[in-house]
Amino acid sequence: MTGSFIEGQRALERLLSDVRNKTVSHAYILSGPRGIGKKTAARVFAKALHCTGENKPCGRCSACVLHRAGTHPDVTFVGPEENGNLNSDTVRAAADELFLRPVMAEKKLLIIDGADRMNNAAQNSLLKTFEEPPEYGVVMLLTEDLSSLLPTIRSRGVKLELEPFPREKIKTYAEREYPAMRGKSDFVAAYSGGNIGRAKEICEDEDFFALRGELLTALCGLGGGKGCIFPIADIFTGGRRKYDAAHASACFDLMLSFFGDALAAKTGGSLANADYDEQIRAFSSSVTVRGLTAAAERAAVTMAELNASMNYTLWITDMLIKCWGDIHGNGNRS
Ligand SMILES: [Zn+2]
Repeated sequence: MTGSFIEGQRALERLLSDVRNKTVSHAYILSGPRGIGKKTAARVFAKALHCTGENKPCGRCSACVLHRAGTHPDVTFVGPEENGNLNSDTVRAAADELFLRPVMAEKKLLIIDGADRMNNAAQNSLLKTFEEPPEYGVVMLLTEDLSSLLPTIRSRGVKLELEPFPREKIKTYAEREYPAMRGKSDFVAAYSGGNIGRAKEICEDEDFFALRGELLTALCGLGGGKGCIFPIADIFTGGRRKYDAAHASACFDLMLSFFGDALAAKTGGSLANADYDEQIRAFSSSVTVRGLTAAAERAAVTMAELNASMNYTLWITDMLIKCWGDIHGNGNRS
């Protein structure tokens, strides 16, 4: 991702202006949902902090080059392990290392990703560094959940929240980085909800658009006879017997976006799946808002309740039968 793209986010603008005005704080807490661009923002900030060029980050000076290669000696990046936890020894070692003077630059930066995964011991081992870092030290915490940080940590840092990108920016980004997405960039922009990481995931997932096409077409069948639930159930199970969390979650997200679009078609809103406009509007015209709302709520509740210990196929089939009932129930046909 290029610098110019992410500059629209106010949190990053603030970080860059701190660098340019030489008002960099000792402690920052960058928060926002997964995929919103926290790591990218932290990397751009690190580059700008160490950049020796005019327009920071210039991308050309030796500091910028070292950052791009991931080898600048004065930045340490710590993140959760594969099990999702952030080891307190790792945090302590990184915090201690900040007290060794920088090698190249005036400032030394410690970035801790997934700070919400630190247990209290890990947070306490960080406290001293966070409260009284060395003169040249900067600590940046990246977190999805601000409330899971100890109040003593939370109150010390400059808190910046990353916002979702405007749809137009995501659309431009998708079209520029993924030329094959040209006809689908409106959908990517709407479906990602302004989350750049999510947009990237969709664009890079070759199977996603095939799944989406199959599922949307099958879901349009919900306006017809009861037999329509079998092809939908087949797509949800994807030929697997066992529950696959990633596949299930993709199917549920798509189903909810389908119901959302069918409701939007009823109320004059624009459709996320704009390339399926005709099909979805045809389905929508045969059902009521009440039926759609009931089915959408049922899907959302089922999605929240799902877990690996359930008989997935049975659970999905049951949900679809009931969704079909919601749509075809008394007075729910228009
Ligand atoms: Zn530079």
